[in-house]
Amino acid sequence: MTQSILTQDKTAYFKGLKCKECGTEYKAEAIHVCEMCFGPLEVNYDFSALKGKISRKDIESGPNSIWRYRQFLPVETDNPIDMGTGMTPLLKSHRLARQLGLKNLYIKNDAVNMPTLSFKDRVVSVALTRARELGFTTVSCASTGNLANSTAAIAAHAGLDCCVFIPSDLEAGKVIGTLIYAPTLMAVHGNYDQVNRLCSEVANTHGWGFVNINLRPYYSEGSKTLGYEVIEQLGWELPDHIVAPLASGSLFTKIYKGFNEFVEVGLIEGKSVRFSGAQAEGCSPIAQAYKEGRDFINPVKPNTVAKSLAIGNPADAVYALDIARKTNGQVESVTDAEIIAGMKLLAETEGIFTETAGGTTIAVLKKLVEAGKIDPDEKTVVYITGNGLKTMEAVQGYISEPFTIEANLDSFERALERSRTLERLDWEPVLV
Ligand SMILES: *Cc1c(COP(=O)(O)O)cnc(C)c1O
Repeated sequence: MTQSILTQDKTAYFKGLKCKECGTEYKAEAIHVCEMCFGPLEVNYDFSALKGKISRKDIESGPNSIWRYRQFLPVETDNPIDMGTGMTPLLKSHRLARQLGLKNLYIKNDAVNMPTLSFKDRVVSVALTRARELGFTTVSCASTGNLANSTAAIAAHAGLDCCVFIPSDLEAGKVIGTLIYAPTLMAVHGNYDQVNRLCSEVANTHGWGFVNINLRPYYSEGSKTLGYEVIEQLGWELPDHIVAPLASGSLFTKIYKGFNEFVEVGLIEGKSVRFSGAQAEGCSPIAQAYKEGRDFINPVKPNTVAKSLAIGNPADAVYALDIARKTNGQVESVTDAEIIAGMKLLAETEGIFTETAGGTTIAVLKKLVEAGKIDPDEKTVVYITGNGLKTMEAVQGYISEPFTIEANLDSFERALERSRTLERLDWEPVLV
């Protein structure tokens, strides 16, 4: 891109980094841990300077991507890496809502995010824009799959060298969907938590920008756009309740932060929003802590079909727990069978093929409704974060087979008759 895509105010409103625990302030460099207390660092903004200076119209007239919210993101350039990430559809649900008995359900569909069909394109667009500003020429990440896809794709677009790390047991779609961009791909024998530990060591020895390690404070800010967009798409209003998946817990906490920032700068009225989180039972350290009333987590060894959520020692767990509790939300987990049923339910009622993470979120939504934890009238937004074409292994054997026929009318008619018989068997109780 040769010229600035932004016509808005070009001031940078972020001031530096700040420890989430002790408040120590740092320069906006590639660091992520507080030297005083080892707490995580977060980007610090001067929102008092932005208050009253930004209007809904300014945002609406910005690019059709996350960069319409540039003043809320930690970059200085007015020429960010923009592959059209963000501004994914917010769909009013009709058929799923009816099936669940909800009147006000919305689906935020990041299964069609650009360029790699998951919400991770948001965080990577921000992280690599900042990486370039900080002078990195090689970028990297520890990934459960989608992050590797995003980092490799957006690095290719930006002309950055790329070396990414994944657990060696990922789905073919996640592996091929990374290799096509020709990064160096390290498939590590071990789970995500082991991959992440290795990457922390590599980050210390090579001068690379790891999007989710030394660039994590910038990376994680990209998830705030999941909050901003929902507000804008609801007609500049907050929902009553959101349901989102939890891996590290980062995106969950950043939707919360995004909602609060729009209130803080005066773009919308504040109100309480309930935050509910979704995990797979085979990797549910946050849901377990929630249920047992603990404010710390016990790390687990993941074993679930929801590989993109398989983080056994989640970095932002305590913050996610705190938000769920103080907003009167829930953190719930579901089995692998429920996850697959959730994928099928969303596909059959709404025409959206999500990956296992989305199946987890839909299954938790259903479970919360059945337990009476979501009021039918609440304006509820469910976040679908990834695409089912990347995790096809998960549904194999759980969906029907095609009717293979000869290329003649007779063969077709016989197959059609068979299909109707199968349908009847499916839907009508068999009377003996
Ligand atoms: C990474 C990922 C998540 C979870 O993100 P965190 O910010 O680590 O909680 C959810 N859904 C999908 C599809 C992902 O790839």
